[in-house]
Parts: sequence; C-alpha cells; structure tokens
Amino acid sequence: MTNEHLLAVAKEHGSPVYVYDSEKIIAQYNRLSNAFKKVKRVKLNYAVKALSNIAILKLINSLGAGLDTVSIQEVQLGLKAGVKPEDIIFTPNGVSLQEIEEVSALGVQINIDNLSILEQFGSKHPNTPVCIRINPHVLAGGNSKISVGHIDSKFGISIHQIPHILRIVENTNMTINGIHMHTGSDILDVEVFLYASEILFETASNFKDLDFIDFGSGFKVPYKEGDIETNIEEFGEKLTKRFNAFCKEYGKELTLGFEPGKFLVSEAGYFLAKVNVVKQTTSTVFAGIDSGFNHLIRPMFYNSHHEIVNVSNPDGRERFYSVVGYICETDTFATNRRISEITEGDIIAFKNAGAYCFSMASNYNSRYRPAEVLWYNGEAHLIRKRETFEDLTKNQVDVDLFSEVTESA
Ligand SMILES: *Cc1c(COP(=O)(O)O)cnc(C)c1O
Repeated sequence: MTNEHLLAVAKEHGSPVYVYDSEKIIAQYNRLSNAFKKVKRVKLNYAVKALSNIAILKLINSLGAGLDTVSIQEVQLGLKAGVKPEDIIFTPNGVSLQEIEEVSALGVQINIDNLSILEQFGSKHPNTPVCIRINPHVLAGGNSKISVGHIDSKFGISIHQIPHILRIVENTNMTINGIHMHTGSDILDVEVFLYASEILFETASNFKDLDFIDFGSGFKVPYKEGDIETNIEEFGEKLTKRFNAFCKEYGKELTLGFEPGKFLVSEAGYFLAKVNVVKQTTSTVFAGIDSGFNHLIRPMFYNSHHEIVNVSNPDGRERFYSVVGYICETDTFATNRRISEITEGDIIAFKNAGAYCFSMASNYNSRYRPAEVLWYNGEAHLIRKRETFEDLTKNQVDVDLFSEVTESA
C-alpha cells in the first residue's frame, strides 16, 4: 500500500483506523509455505490471537491455512468464518477441563499442556486423540513477556516429565497424535529453533501413534529498515532435511505444523491516527494524536518499536517528535523520532500494526475502539465498524437506586 492509499482510507473511514494489506499477508503465507515445499505434508495454522477479525480468518483460510486458537471464543470465531473444525487446533494454557471438553466436542484438535488435565481428559475420553505441548526448556523470545519456553515457564509439559506422560497414556489408553512446542515470540536465531526441534524429535520418538509434529511459531519480523528477521528460507531448508529424515526413522509420513501469528499479519497492518496538537516545549516537540494505549498498547507494554510515517506529508523536512496519546497517563508511542514535518490535522501511520494491536485494544477512557479496513485488490473494504456510544453502554445495567437518597438529602 502507498501513502496515498493510506491517506484515502483515513479520508473515507475517519481516524483512528486499522488497515490491513491482504497482499502482504498472502506474500508472507507463500513465503513460509515455499520454505517447506519439500516436505510432503505441511499444515500452517494461523494464530488467531494476533488479529481475529473474521475477514482476516477467511482470507488466511482461503490460502490453505487452518487456525491455532487459545480460547473457545476464538474457536467459535473460526467456525463462524467457515473454517472446518478439523482445521483448527486448540492450544490453551490454564483453561478448565470443561472448556477443553466443549471445544473437543466441536471436532477440534485438542492440545494439552499439563499433566493434570491430560490425566483427567484421557480418563474420560480415551478415544479422542490429543496433542501434547512440550516445554523443551530452550530460552528464546524477544523479551521476558513473550519468552515462554524457559525452565520456569508456565507453558507446556516439561521434557523431564515424559515418563509421567507415558504412564498416563498407558493407564488411560489414550492416543497421542501430535507433539507440539511454542517457545516464544521474536526468536532471531535459526540455530536456537533447530536445537529446540531436536528436543521435539527426541520426544516424538517416544510416541507411536503420531500424525503430526507442530513446531509452534515465534518468527521474528523486521520492525524497521535494516532490522534482523528470522531467515525463513535457511530455516526451511535445514528443518526440511531433518524432518524428512525423522519421518523415515519414524516409519511414517508425518505432517509438519507451524502456528504463525506475527509472521503472517504484523507487517500487513497500519494504524492511522490524526495529529490533534503539536506542542512545543523547551526541550521536545510533542505530536499528540487522537488515540492512545487503548488502541495500540505494544509500545508501552512490550517496548515495541513501530515506525511512524507522516502520510499527509511524507517528503517534508524531517524533525524530531515525541508522539504521544490522549490517555490521562503517560502514553508515549515514540520518543525523539525523526518524522517528516507534522502540521496539526496530519494523518500519521504506525507500521507493523497487524499483530497484537487491534486484538489488544480496549475502551479505556471510554473511547470507542477503531474501525478496521481490509485492503484487497486495490480497494478498501470496511471489516469492522468504529464503535459507537451504544457499544459503551449496551452491557451496563442502569440500577436507578439513588434517586430517593438524593431527594431526602
Ligand atoms: C501466540 C502463539 C503463537 C503465535 O506467535 P507469533 O509470535 O505471533 O507467531 C503460536 N502458537 C501459540 C501456542 C501461541 O500461543
């Protein structure tokens, strides 16, 4: 998408607004599948939590991907989008047995990540094959909030507890049809991935009824020019060799699975906001926009970097700005950022706004959540309306208890 396209979307749909470029999503999907084209059976399950608009789920499903889900609501969104239950995997952490049973009853593949639920589920439903999530204890991930494979992590069953898993499987007569890991987000190093994969292969050889091995996700995408990213092509080449060799050893053509979230949608997204105020202080120039961490929390929550472009004036003289929101708390998107000269009323675009942006938006400060637009075949399609005052009040119960008190006072 060009700056003109983005500006046109903001004109048509107002600000703030999220825009997703379907071409980029398709390109990323093709890149990942091409990297593994020499594996006979590959299944990419898109991690819904990154961006869960039904139009996005439909688009990605139309490319051949299934879905990776973490709540029954995400499963229901997937089904509503027309995704077949057998193309959905449920990989929750810390949810109740009841929720897992409800999802399983929908025909969705269950992935269990603790011994207690494994034993309970296996005892009650020995004929339902389940996948197990292993914690390979590999420290990976861009920061401590998104590293989920280390020794103290709450995710997955420790590889040191494999004998315990095998005992449960034997006692309950359940079938393990998949082995899974997901060690974190923003993993740079292909070697770290491959190392964790070896642990997964070793684990897999303990289970005789496997259909698939799921390597999770966590591919690093670039956030700015010159940024490092996971070398998917190199990774594909190396893991393909290992995977095909393992299938030979195992004696069966297994399916190789991934669950990319960020990789598919991060770079496809733009968040457009309008500059309400340019405020010059003695040391800084603030650009105050018509949004805040209620709409885009990643800079404050994860220290994430989002490139910012002034799409109203992309080629002006560059100046330094601190870009801040309208929330009544410190609400800084970027400090001392070089941006083409900003005039009040300009539309600025935050890049990499596809993954974990709208899906983490809230109504804090009683603001409406933004609209979402899908750019497809050179046209803008509204895929979520901006909220209205009714959305803020529709679940509030007006109890009307205080009128008497006021009268007698
Ligand atoms: C969040 C999550 C993913 C997606 O991670 P990305 O870094 O967005 O690719 C994949 N698998 C599981 C189990 C997850 O929880």
